Amino acid sequence: MKALVLKGYHDLAVEDFPEPAFTEDSVKIAVYYGGLCGTDLHKYDGKGGSHGIHYPVPLGHEISGIVEKVGANVKNFKPGDRVTADPNWSCGKCYFCRNGMPHMCENAKGVVKGFAEYICPPESNVYHLPDTLSLHDASMTEPLSCCIHGIDQLDVQVGQTVLLVGMGAIGTMMLQLLRLTGASNIIVVEPVEEKKELAFKLGATLFINPLKEDVKEVIKNAGIPNVDRVIECVGAKFTIENALDYAGKCATVVLFGLGNPENPSAFNQYAAFQKELTIKNSFVNPGATQRAIDLLDRKLVDVSAFVSAEMTLEELKEEIEHPVYSRKGKVIAKIRDEKGNVI
Ligand SMILES: [Zn+2]
Ligand SMILES: [Zn+2]
Repeated sequence: MKALVLKGYHDLAVEDFPEPAFTEDSVKIAVYYGGLCGTDLHKYDGKGGSHGIHYPVPLGHEISGIVEKVGANVKNFKPGDRVTADPNWSCGKCYFCRNGMPHMCENAKGVVKGFAEYICPPESNVYHLPDTLSLHDASMTEPLSCCIHGIDQLDVQVGQTVLLVGMGAIGTMMLQLLRLTGASNIIVVEPVEEKKELAFKLGATLFINPLKEDVKEVIKNAGIPNVDRVIECVGAKFTIENALDYAGKCATVVLFGLGNPENPSAFNQYAAFQKELTIKNSFVNPGATQRAIDLLDRKLVDVSAFVSAEMTLEELKEEIEHPVYSRKGKVIAKIRDEKGNVI
């Protein structure tokens, strides 16, 4: 089958690749759309994603498609069903799976290598799509589900003030979710001034350009007494450090951006003590896939607000090697046309 294969460090090719193993528990899915994730770019650069990498491997884990055939043990899917798949498989048997932490599974593996004609995840990872949700939009289920887990971690109480650092594709999804939490003030800190209009359209109440203004000063002058929740969606050393600085008293800060293992952030523990900060992380998407599908289907999260381009696998190879559109938003690969023919 045709696939975009990572063969080693900075070694990417669109080429013929063996189809994934099909077992009695598998759902064979003809992939139509696949989203390009920051972790695909990380992997191209030789860094790990949420699980380790074993070359050669097709990149991509954010997919939508149509069921082609099902294994003998599969109960809830049949050929022709429109579906998406959660890439994170967990065993259900280890200590972590049995104690409410399936995303920390000791035997976890990725079961969607999605920039390819076919994937064969186990039934447990496959989800039906409503007829009213397009396959294009449904390919954003996985990144949105990760954002939903981040919002779960942020634990916003209705009426609180929240601050979002970074309005890239993930930040733009987060902003739409923050609006749904019932926060009274939604402050967006983002250096790209052109995003201001979109930020207000999606629910921001204050937009601050940190290159031009003193963030804490602007918040104070706006009469906002405390920043209760902060979510960081960039992962750079200085944006993480700034996020902790923007946080108010008794605030919860979620560090959603991945961070660079070679250049970790430092923070002032004494300042954090004085503010009694709660600092949290967010790892993948436990229990969030169906909620992501429902929010996309209800158009409560608008995909067009953050998708920057749609392209073929060949174009995607170029994009990963020399990112242009993925700097502006989410890139989606179109793998098949409406009739199901591979492009
Ligand atoms: Zn992803
Ligand atoms: Zn497990």
